[in-house]
Amino acid sequence: MSAYPDTRLFIDGAWRPADDGQTLPVVNPATGLVIGQVARAGEADIARAVDAARKGFAAWSRVGAFERYNVIRQAASLLRERVDTIARLMTVEQGKPLVEARTEILGSADILDWLAEEGRRAYGRLVPPRAPDVTQMVLRTPIGPVAGFSPWNFPISQAARKLGAALATGCSIILKAPEETPASPAALVQAFIDAGLPGDVLSLLYGVPAEISSRLIPDPAIRKISFTGSTAVGRELAAMAGRHMKRSTMELGGHAPVIVAADADLDQAAALLAASKFRNAGQVCVSPTRFLVERPAYDGFLDRFLSHVSAVKPGDGLDATTTMGPLAHERRVSAIETLIDNATSLGARVETGGGRMGNAGYFFQPTVVTGLTPDMQIMNEEPFGPVALITPVEDIDTALKEANRLDYGLAAYAFTRSGVTATRLRDEVRSGMLTINHLGLALPETPFGGIGDSGYGSEGGAEAIEPYLETRFVTHKTVL
Ligand code: NAD
Repeated sequence: MSAYPDTRLFIDGAWRPADDGQTLPVVNPATGLVIGQVARAGEADIARAVDAARKGFAAWSRVGAFERYNVIRQAASLLRERVDTIARLMTVEQGKPLVEARTEILGSADILDWLAEEGRRAYGRLVPPRAPDVTQMVLRTPIGPVAGFSPWNFPISQAARKLGAALATGCSIILKAPEETPASPAALVQAFIDAGLPGDVLSLLYGVPAEISSRLIPDPAIRKISFTGSTAVGRELAAMAGRHMKRSTMELGGHAPVIVAADADLDQAAALLAASKFRNAGQVCVSPTRFLVERPAYDGFLDRFLSHVSAVKPGDGLDATTTMGPLAHERRVSAIETLIDNATSLGARVETGGGRMGNAGYFFQPTVVTGLTPDMQIMNEEPFGPVALITPVEDIDTALKEANRLDYGLAAYAFTRSGVTATRLRDEVRSGMLTINHLGLALPETPFGGIGDSGYGSEGGAEAIEPYLETRFVTHKTVL
């Protein structure tokens, strides 16, 4: 394998070290060893990125929608061509198995294609006037330079959602990508540059997240914030954006309920949910977490689910036989251990797994916990790891009550053969996304976002470009 590269900042058309030369270490989570360095932006770098974004916006917002579309489509093609190389970088810095890294990259290319297309459909409209010589025009114009903050769990796809929507609508963007996984977002940026995107339209920063967000969000040049990460950080950034009257999209944490009705196809439910639970070692904002199984199906579901768990093969993501990689960093291991300790001290039972694996890297066993009660920390805080919490419920009413108990509302899952139950869940589960009897979330063409403490705004579907557009109204009376 070629050596893992150090990552620099991309500002105003050039890859640069930080102005003061500072760097941060990058660690391979499968070994715990430092594999490279990423430049750590300081004030001079951030100020330069803001200047570039201002300049880039002035020019890019005047480029035709069709040309913008061509550049984004070309970047998507380059990602596809480079998938093997970029996937290895992602696996080495983030931990996920190569096959998952490839799927993420190819899926990101599809996201870019969709957003490029939607940029061509950012239509305004004419409103019928009250007088014949009046034309009432609704214009939709790009909002301005964007500050995007993307997370380490999906180093390319979460960045692609922000870049694609900003660039398709004519905005410039400064991306603050994750310091833990810097090389794969850099490869995404390189694809845009190679596709012909002017260098001042897109900047890439790394550094101390709070230093960069607290500098960028109040800056008068920045008009829109998009953040993907934890609810706690999202609250801070949304408050800061509000103080400065900036529009924001917040894609935050979740604690996804899974309702398994007594009439569900248990073979199918257990197989799909296990595949989904252990993808990316559970570090997925829509990961199924609180399993609520109607009592008659409980034993059957638990047995089936456990048999899938025993087939999960944790290991280095570069090993072709691995089906689950390590956690992305050390702090996730200790966070999950604390949640499990709290649960077991209050009477929960670990059916399988429950702890760290090996003595190198950040591996955590695929874990199933039962005997849960709502007062346990883990039933309230997102484990963000390979942990399934399985609870029997008496009926669908009880399941709904537990599903809606938390203020999170990102994803929810349900399995039932009953159309009546499915309709009821559709109407009563409080979440931004619900998938019934299959895994159908996060396609480019469908909305992606939460409600309540899971944030606001959508990063998928036709809705994805809305937050990057301003609506302006012009009424024009023709005078002779
Ligand atoms: P964290 O809360 O420290 O950070 C979460 C993300 O926010 C990281 O990408 C981080 O770089 C960024 N961040 C932190 N402080 C910031 C600031 N002041 N300004 C700008 N960005 C900032 O937690 P963590 O240990 O990195 O991740 C664990 C938690 O984060 C999980 O519990 C999960 O809820 C959440 N998370 C969610 C997603 C998601 O897809 N919604 C992705 C990654 C992490």
